[in-house]
Amino acid sequence: MISIKNTMQQDGIRRSANLLSAVFSRIGTLIQPGITTLEIDRVVEETIKSGGGIPAFLGYGGFPASVCTSVNDQVIHGIPDGNTLKEGDIIGCDIGVILDGYFSDSAKTYAVGEIASDTQRLLDATEKSLRAAIDVCWPGNRVKDIGKAVTESIKPYGYGVVYSYCGHGVGLSLHEDPQIPNYYPSRGLNPRLKPGMVIAIEPMINAGTADVEVLEDEWTVITADGLLSAHFEHTILITGKSPEVLTFWGS
Ligand code: MG
Ligand code: MG
Repeated sequence: MISIKNTMQQDGIRRSANLLSAVFSRIGTLIQPGITTLEIDRVVEETIKSGGGIPAFLGYGGFPASVCTSVNDQVIHGIPDGNTLKEGDIIGCDIGVILDGYFSDSAKTYAVGEIASDTQRLLDATEKSLRAAIDVCWPGNRVKDIGKAVTESIKPYGYGVVYSYCGHGVGLSLHEDPQIPNYYPSRGLNPRLKPGMVIAIEPMINAGTADVEVLEDEWTVITADGLLSAHFEHTILITGKSPEVLTFWGS
């Protein structure tokens, strides 16, 4: 069932998203060669808690950390560890916040130091596909218009649009209806977007094929061909007119 959030709930989710955005502003300056993903996790957890929030991912389904850190060929759900990031790596940071019972969810893939130009191209294309998807989030359009926008935006690059994982409704819990595929055409329901819906749109784009595998830790999703992958996500409120992007990443 798709929940329509009332004004009070929208305000609560907006506050949650503001705290989440502050977390991204904080880690953006930290991500440099030499830092470990475990150190990033510690800062994420501290920043969320000092803002009065709860890390939504910590303990979710048994996930052991506050941030999913997905490095290079890792697509999503990477687990922070003691390995240091190296110049030229990319790292997707996916974070969820609960504040006063309201959930927000966002992800950004960062460059670690200087990265190759074809790597930057993957990041830029993925972020651009998220913007293209947000641009169709007007009331009356349908969920599958979102995946269509992502897929059409990515098509000129020849990258793989991951089909095994989707965006989702969010706000009163971490994962709500509807599921929001990033690819098109897709199976499943195709409801209309209505004012008061809050959704997380999160294209995962692979430099090679769209196929993925899950590691033995039963969390980390990697590209099947070992090539790089990028992931960007925003929490968005559908309004009576243009969409309101509730999360932001700062510099
Ligand atoms: Mg997320
Ligand atoms: Mg999400």
